Amino acid sequence: MAELIFLEPVFKEVIWGGDALHTRFGYAIPSDHTGECWAVSGHKNGDCRIRGGAWDGYTLGQLWKEHRELFGGQEGDQFPILIKLIDARQDLSIQVHPDDVYAKEHENGSLGKTECWYILDCEPGTEIVIGHNASTREELKQMIDEGRWKELLRTYPIRRGDFFQIEPGTIHAIKGGTLLIETQQSSDVTYRVYDYGRLQDGKPRQLHLRQSLDVITCPSPEQNLGRTVEETKEGCLEKLVECAYYGAEHLKLHGQMQRNTPALYEIAGVLDGKGTVNGTAVKKGDFFLIPHGYGDYELQGQMELMLVCPGRSAEDR
Ligand code: ZN
Repeated sequence: MAELIFLEPVFKEVIWGGDALHTRFGYAIPSDHTGECWAVSGHKNGDCRIRGGAWDGYTLGQLWKEHRELFGGQEGDQFPILIKLIDARQDLSIQVHPDDVYAKEHENGSLGKTECWYILDCEPGTEIVIGHNASTREELKQMIDEGRWKELLRTYPIRRGDFFQIEPGTIHAIKGGTLLIETQQSSDVTYRVYDYGRLQDGKPRQLHLRQSLDVITCPSPEQNLGRTVEETKEGCLEKLVECAYYGAEHLKLHGQMQRNTPALYEIAGVLDGKGTVNGTAVKKGDFFLIPHGYGDYELQGQMELMLVCPGRSAEDR
């Protein structure tokens, strides 16, 4: 019978990172500048190892190559979803990602990046940057050249539980004081537009202005933050997004709930609390794959979960 496949996280130290991945999730992080936990990744820059069970010692990337049956035979030369926890102690650079078409042509066949953020925690008064106020590409270029960032960038106040979908071409930044979970296409292509003039090892980090001006959508569409919530006495299930690349739900469970597995497979992360999945114990900080063929399952416990499945493009084959 199919079993849950638990993943070991990969950590990334960065200048803007903090220690919340330890204090909040209990992970053994490499330093108090740890900005990212790649909790579910088959990407070559941080391929998660499988912990325990029949696939112990494999990486997710290897399982994808050698045991595609676990993923319902989904196509593609790399595991398509990357899930990260991000602890931003300081501001991240202002950045933008290309779409699949641009990335394929300009980044050696890499995937583009659509991503989404669920805010797990933030300091009071924290904002997030999404989109810009230029009406034409010429105006955008001029405002960037003149460094009119305050006027150019759209910022929104955030609270725990907020959710944002970031389409390719959307200029964006996470500000210091934010802890969030990010679900994205498995891609590491980021164009940095502005880095607040900061220095790393005495030098500014590289900017990618030409590529950024190529890919930034003009004008920026308004953020549309509609979401549906199903509340029962067993819990509160929110459907956050369903796009071509992934679907994501957030569940707060109090007790017991039956779940139907999606057509291909599902990925779950325990954000808080503990419980069981068909009797297997899971707790805060655990991320696991519910493989194809696992069947419907029963969740039990007091816990908060992120549930992610492949997007629409995987199913209309
Ligand atoms: Zn991004």
